[in-house]
Amino acid sequence: MEKGQLVVFSGPSGVGKGTVLQRYLALNNNSKLSVSATTRKPREGEVDGKNYYFMTKQQFEAMVSNDEVLEYASYNGNYYGTPRKMVEEQIQNGINVILEIEVRGALQVKEKCPDALLVFVMPPSWDELYKRLTGRNTEDMETICKRMEIAKKEIQLAEQYDYVIVNNDIDNTVKQLECVIQANKCNNCNMKEFVDEIKTQAQIFEESCKQL
Ligand code: 5GP
Repeated sequence: MEKGQLVVFSGPSGVGKGTVLQRYLALNNNSKLSVSATTRKPREGEVDGKNYYFMTKQQFEAMVSNDEVLEYASYNGNYYGTPRKMVEEQIQNGINVILEIEVRGALQVKEKCPDALLVFVMPPSWDELYKRLTGRNTEDMETICKRMEIAKKEIQLAEQYDYVIVNNDIDNTVKQLECVIQANKCNNCNMKEFVDEIKTQAQIFEESCKQL
């Protein structure tokens, strides 16, 4: 069976990652979102096991020392990490697994799994990101400035991603995400097993020719 792909999706807060992924997942039932573990407190409406696995610092640290997370990072004073088991199982079952994680975790994934696809979502402009963050009307100015400061640092690491998508139109962004996931299937890393198989067949053929 063809293996699924590991897709890492990052971008600054306010860029619209959640909306893009919701739409993408509704249209592509061969892809699933990984549920992360975190030590941050649930926000109103968040459900344990659906939005995150909410846990204590001790529980999180135990997962890390038992090598049960694929990557982890601390963000805004809390730990966030990707439980390894679900990711590995789904990929073996041919399902694409999407990780919506911040940049340092993303780069750890790239190091451990070189065939992972890293996609960074950019706002159409810096002003637009500011507008989107203030438009939510949920945060004070200090929080918004802090998010913009984090966004600046994150954008500096975007060049280490495989693809950069600009989120200026949701339908177009989803289409681009579908395209890069499709294209990544043909990436040399992901075709290695197939290419090796053809090389073996060529070798067997050459040897049988010698016996003629
Ligand atoms: P929030 O607290 O707003 O849900 O998430 C804060 C940040 O943590 C976001 O940038 C989100 O993408 C990131 N994040 C969520 N889950 C993980 C994870 O498992 N690993 C890492 N490295 N970052 C995560």
